[in-house]
Order: sequence, then C-alpha cells, then structure tokens
Amino acid sequence: METTRDVTPPAARALATEAVHAGRDDLAALGVHAAPIDLSTTYPSHDSRGEAERIDAFAATGARLEGPPVYARLDNPTTARFETALARLEGTQTAVAFASGMAALSACLLARSAAGLRHVVAVRPLYGSSDHLLGSGLLGTEVTWTDPAGIAAAIRPDTGLVLVETPANPTLAEVDLRAVARDCGRVPLLVDNTFATPVLQRPAQSGARIVLHSATKYLGGHGDVLGGVVACDEEFAGVLRQVRFATGAVLHPLAGYLLLRGLATLPVRVRAASATAALLAARLAEDPRVSAVYYPRIGGAMVSFEVCGDPHAVIAAVRLITPAVSLGSVDTLIQHPASISHRVVAADDRESGGVGERLLRMSVGLEDPDDLWADLDKALAAV
Ligand code: PLP
Repeated sequence: METTRDVTPPAARALATEAVHAGRDDLAALGVHAAPIDLSTTYPSHDSRGEAERIDAFAATGARLEGPPVYARLDNPTTARFETALARLEGTQTAVAFASGMAALSACLLARSAAGLRHVVAVRPLYGSSDHLLGSGLLGTEVTWTDPAGIAAAIRPDTGLVLVETPANPTLAEVDLRAVARDCGRVPLLVDNTFATPVLQRPAQSGARIVLHSATKYLGGHGDVLGGVVACDEEFAGVLRQVRFATGAVLHPLAGYLLLRGLATLPVRVRAASATAALLAARLAEDPRVSAVYYPRIGGAMVSFEVCGDPHAVIAAVRLITPAVSLGSVDTLIQHPASISHRVVAADDRESGGVGERLLRMSVGLEDPDDLWADLDKALAAV
C-alpha cells in the first residue's frame, strides 16, 4: 500500500526544492521515480470493525484517514501527494484539494455556514464566478462588499470569512495582506492566491488563515487540468474534508497526478513568464494606442490594459496569442473580462470594481517576448 503519511517533512527547504520533492519523499523507498496513480474507487478490507472505528474518527474530526483509504470520496493517495506538496509550498499545516477552484471556495463558505457564520466580507474585484457565488447568495451566505480600509467596520458577530484576491482578477489590484489580516481580528482571512502563486507570495506568512487556489491555472500550468485547493491549518482542513466527503467535489486522482507534476516546474514557469510579462507591460505603457496598463508591484505573469479603441478588435486580431478565458498556461492567453470572466457580475458592479469595457486581461506564457510583442503590435494596429 503506497502512502504519503509516514514521511516526516525535512527541515525547511527552499521553495524550488520543495516544488520538485514535496509529496514525493517516499518514492525512492517505494522503488519508483514517478508518483503512482491510484484509480481505485474502493478498497478491500476484511476488518469491518476496524473500518467502523476509522470512519467514526473521520466523522469526529475530519482528520486524514490513517492507513489505506476506504472509498475514493473520502481520500486518495495520489491526490494526497498534491495536497502535501502544496501545503509545503504555501507554508501551511495541510491542504485539501477539490474538483475545481469554485468547489474549493464553495466548501470554505459551507464550512463557515455550518458553524452558523453565514456573513462574508469581501473586497471587489474578485473573479467573476466568485463574485457571483457571493452576490447571488446561492449557498445561503450574505456578503458585504467593502474596500480594504472598510473591512474592520464591516465585520459582524456572524461574519465567518473575509475574502480578498491579491493581485485581483482582472485588474491586478493589490491589498496589504498584513494590514488586512490585522483588521480581520478573530475572523479568518481567506486569500485567493491564484494569480501570485506561492512563488511570489505566501499569504499564510502575512496572517491569512486560508489560502485558496484555482489549481486549474498556474499550479497545473498547462491548461489541461481542472482543480482547486485550500491550504490551511489542520482544524479548518478537518471541516473542509467533511464538507468534501458530504458534497462529493473531490479532485480526480489523474488530476491530482497532473497537479503534482505541475508543481515541479511552478517556480521556473512563474519566474520566466513574469519576466516576459514585465517587459510587455513596459512596452504597452509606452504605446499611444493603450490608455492604461495594470501590472502588480509583486510582479507576476498577468498584465491587464485598456485600449483607446475597440478591445474586441484586439481579441479578433491576435494570431499567436490565444483568445481564450483562463490563465496560467504555458501559452499566452488574452480575454475581455467584461464579456467573459466577469460577465456574470452586474455591469454596475463590474464598473465600480474597475472592470471597464475597454479592459483586456492577458496571461503571459513562455513564448519569446519579441514574438508576443509582434503579435500584440499587429493586433493593436487593428483597434
Ligand atoms: N479564483 C480565481 C482568481 C480564478 O481566476 C478562478 C477561475 O478563473 C477561480 C478562482 C475559479 O477556479 P476554477 O475555474 O478552477 O473553478
């Protein structure tokens, strides 16, 4: 039975080393080099009394099962490797993986609602579907939107979460995480770290209790796997695992395998794409066809900009750059947030969050910067 559970984490290793080794510490002892993929949905056991005890223990605390899994909705060893590795990169006690980023966010909201804390304080902009999930109250939560300075005043006795994205999707607006964490007081701060990745920012070090990723983006890194993950302390993870078991939004083990593999190249990909993004942002800032450029202080591979003319003409004219929603892949993608990623947000709320009609969001990949600029330059000529 292969397991990741009995391996003591080595003393602090650098992020680049963790990216390649975390979650894989036991592979040599198993006599393999690549992580095994366990596709079992169920696991045979002649010891029903023992299984009863293990299920009781899980129901009580939500702690990861000791020993072999029982059923794939409870636990999977391949996915557990990805969880172990991501927790190591984010510097948290543990992590819990989900079928998508939205499943991860839903589980966080349900976990707090289950404790009677249905109120959420959030800062716009957020990814469009996250904004919609909160604003629609689909999960029975109630949201107060505020700017970072208003967080402390917006907190109520029934507030279960404060939610921020930094850099935010799609304006790349940043918040001061330490200041926000201080203002949250006893309320857990959830930081969506999808855009920064742990390569550029580890929110847990700034006081965030919950760090969320759409793993679909940089963690996977190749545009071929959908997933989500929450890095947090063991106590909150226990509730998340119970929610995941009850609602079934588990990450498929093949996706767990691909995400673990993606983590190995995460630092190299993020640093290379960020260097190109910074260069393109500088060129865009000097271009008279561009009226505004947004590039985060902490860097990163996302660049947003507003064009003087019709943004749809840019989308129609790019040839090397892929005109598609999503981000974090090895190839460069561009999209019009007001039409796609943030379409589900009401137009007024989009505008007040800085998501204007002329805004384009570009996820810079690993192509040569001059080839990307040549494509952008031609597309801007079409505006
Ligand atoms: N958070 C951010 C910042 C995102 O950009 C996205 C998706 O684009 C999500 C969460 C949701 O992730 P998923 O599409 O994996 O459900």
